[in-house]
Parts: sequence; structure tokens; C-alpha cells
Amino acid sequence: MRIVAIHDGILPISSSIRNAWIDFNQMDCSIVAVVSDVVRDHSPLVGYGFNSNGRYSQHDILRRRMIPRLLAAAPADLLDATGENLDPARAWDVMMANEKPGGHGERSVAVGVLDMALFDLAAKIADVPLARFVADRYGDGAPDERVSVYAAGGYYQPNKGLFELQDEMRGFLDAGYVRVKMKIGGAPLAEDLARIEAVLDVLGGNGDALAVDANGRFDLATALEYANALDPYQLAWYEEPSDPLDYATHAEIAAAYNGALATGENLFSHQDARNLVRYGNVRAERDIFQFDPALSYGLVEYLRTLAMLREHNISPRRCIPHGGHQFAVHLAAALHLGGNESYPNEFSPAGGFADDAVIDHGFLAPSSAPGIGIEEKAALYRAMRALHD
Ligand code: MG
Repeated sequence: MRIVAIHDGILPISSSIRNAWIDFNQMDCSIVAVVSDVVRDHSPLVGYGFNSNGRYSQHDILRRRMIPRLLAAAPADLLDATGENLDPARAWDVMMANEKPGGHGERSVAVGVLDMALFDLAAKIADVPLARFVADRYGDGAPDERVSVYAAGGYYQPNKGLFELQDEMRGFLDAGYVRVKMKIGGAPLAEDLARIEAVLDVLGGNGDALAVDANGRFDLATALEYANALDPYQLAWYEEPSDPLDYATHAEIAAAYNGALATGENLFSHQDARNLVRYGNVRAERDIFQFDPALSYGLVEYLRTLAMLREHNISPRRCIPHGGHQFAVHLAAALHLGGNESYPNEFSPAGGFADDAVIDHGFLAPSSAPGIGIEEKAALYRAMRALHD
């Protein structure tokens, strides 16, 4: 088998939402189609990938470095031992040739897009859903049948008051979610506490059904002020209180906050993740790790991160990836992660699950189509098809 073409494009996923750091008016993402010479039902098998959300499209790195390296490789250098399917780990080494270590920047996003497409293609060649493919190749062969998902929203938006915030959260519950997340840190503490209490009202006062996300906004003093104010609510978690690369500050917050902290969506390599574990005073039984494989060099790197966590006695169940995309749902099932994020109302058409996906008491079954199942998400599939038709 060989790769005959790789196409990339840019998909707008803009929105009027705002978190404590950025607005999403200009947000877009890269999409790629990896076309193989394997023909099934009279059509070549094609793998699709996209780069989650929160980082912009990576056109230049894809076009100038990663895609040319894959296309220039001898076909045999990308294959597994059978010679009949791709080995995405070998493709990863090809993409990362002549790249210095460290300073991961957004190179990891470009590699992540292609890694997703290569895994989609490999699972299609094997004619199995990605969760099955990954469980067989890298896991225990027994993927979870369902994945816990929570609804992320509660953004700051023009003309959105407490009533609209509560309405949004009621919509999540009506859609089958039992846990929700909202933004904090984009308003003064007193206002955020009023927002939190308004949402807790909708949740019957159950703090465990609510997570809050500061998107790395706070300095140490503000993070501690919030930690102190949040503690009595016994929330599911307090996410990214401080800069994601400032492990010493994270460690101080962890020492002061009794509840769970969550972080990791802006750590893009297993080395960065390891530094968090080494220096961030993380609590193995309590905290949540949100590394997003699509943003951080793909599944090949994510497996290294999971191995590192295991060495530190941190279970994969503590991992709940950022992003709310189909790729991570398969990985959560295959590798026994703790769940997955979901953005029911944002980042369309890239984010979200299959069009007919059902959320049942906070759980979702991964798609049963071969590969990731992007074909079951009509608007995204249309954009992908347009890359190569
Ligand atoms: Mg977050």
C-alpha cells in the first residue's frame, strides 16, 4: 500500500464566544485528506484529520515540511511489519526528521492533523472502527463500549446574562449530559461566583456536576483567591487556573486547593507533560489531565504521554482530553481514559460527534464505522471530500 496524495485545507470554525484569554472570531483549523492506493468498493481509501480547536490552521508547516516529507518517503518506510498497512509511528519519525527537540510550538498541531488522518486511514484499511484498531494495536484489545462525555460551554458572550447562561446549561442536560463546564476569569470574582451559583441552581446544587475553566488567566494571588472561594462548592474540577507552563505556580495552587485541578490542554509534548508531573505537585488520585492528542503530535505522542503517566502511577482514567472531537472519543474507549470533552454548540463543523450520536446519561458510544467515522458527520465530511474530489 502507498500514499498517493495528501491534500490540506483551512476550515473556519469562528464563533462569537470568548473565554478569559481569547475570542474565537478568527478561529480556524487545518483539515487534511491522505489518499491511498487501496481501493475498496471502487473508491480509494482516504484518511481524514483536523486539528481540534483553540489553535489556528497550520498550512505553512504542513505544506513546507510535514507533507513533503511523507510524500518523499519510500512507501515501505511508512508500513507496519505486514507491509499491508500503515505504521503511524514510523510516519511520525519521517515527519519529524530534521526537527530539533524542544520549543514544540505549533509544529505539534501540524503533526497532530496528519497523525489523525494516518490513523483514520490505517483503521479503514483494517476495516475496523478506530477504537478497535487502537485497542488491538496499543491497548488490551477490549475497548470500553461507552465513553463519559461532559458538555463544555458557559462562555462569555455579548448580551448573555445569568438567565441565558442557565438556559444554555438546561439545554445540555436536556441533550443527555450530566456534567457541564463553564468559563471563569473573564469577569470579576463576585460576578463569576454569581454565575457559578446560577449554574449550580440548574444542577440541583450538585458541585460534582460542574467544572470551571479559567483558561490560564490568573496570577498566583488571583488563582488562590478563586481557589479559596471555589473550595466550598466541591466542584468536579478547577481548570487551568494559571499559565499552563508555570509548574511552580500550579504546585502552589495544588497545595492550597482541596478539590481537583485540571490542566494539560496547552501542553503539546510528553516532555512538557512530564514536567507538569515532576514539578506541578499534581495529585495522582484527584487531578485531571487534558492533553489533546490532536494538538500535541497525535496519538503516537499521546501513547508516550500515557506511558510516562503510568511510570508516575497515574491512571489513564485521570485523562479527559480537551477538544470534543471524534478522534479522542475513540482513544478514550481504546485506552480506558476517564472520558472526553464535548462542545455541543461550538466549533462546528470540525468539533462534535456523529450527526446521529446519542448522549445517554453522560455517555456516548464511539462510531462503529471504519476509521474515525467522519463520514457520519455530514458537514465535516463535505469539507473533507472537497479536498480531494
Ligand atoms: Mg480548557
